[in-house]
Order: sequence, then structure tokens, then C-alpha cells
Amino acid sequence: MYAPTDLAHEIGHAVLANTGDLRGDPWLNTGLEESEWQTTHFENQVRSEMRLPLRTYYKKLKEHNPTTGEDDYYPDGPRLIKKGHFSVYVPNYDYKKENPPSK
Ligand SMILES: [Zn+2]
Repeated sequence: MYAPTDLAHEIGHAVLANTGDLRGDPWLNTGLEESEWQTTHFENQVRSEMRLPLRTYYKKLKEHNPTTGEDDYYPDGPRLIKKGHFSVYVPNYDYKKENPPSK
């Protein structure tokens, strides 16, 4: 977990909820709500702007331990990135092109 990118993800949910665009149905046959695709795309836009590695997979939270603060995840959620830096959710969206590496 990395707090700034986790916060970006949650802000994505909040913005979608406030604009009435939070899509709760599964997206295609991925088994994952479209809202998670929307917010992981936003999270990856922020990661790209911060020159951080993109989030490549979505993992569903299995259990949060409130005593230790540790999270346990189901393995192997859907892949979010293809060809290294393209969005799976938004066709032809290239995170690298939008935020080229600084020199
Ligand atoms: Zn989420």
C-alpha cells in the first residue's frame, strides 16, 4: 500500500459518486464492477503523473485486519495494463504518452 495512490483511488470513487457516474455493474466479463475500472484508471493517471509504476492488476480485498492494519487479498484479479503502458479500460489510452518520462 502507498497512501498517495490509495488516496487517489478513493478520490476517484468519491468524484464518481458525486457526479452520479459511479457504475456498479460488472464491466464486460471481468467479474469486477465498472467503478473499479474507472477508479483504477484514475489511479494510474495519477501514478503516471507522479512517475510511479502503474498498477498492473486489481486484487479484491479478502480481509482487513483492524488490529494490525494489514490487508489480505484474493490472488490474480483482472489485468489493468496491456503492452506495458496502455489502459485495458480506456481504448488506446497510453499512460506513457500522456506523461512521458522526464529526462
Ligand atoms: Zn476501489
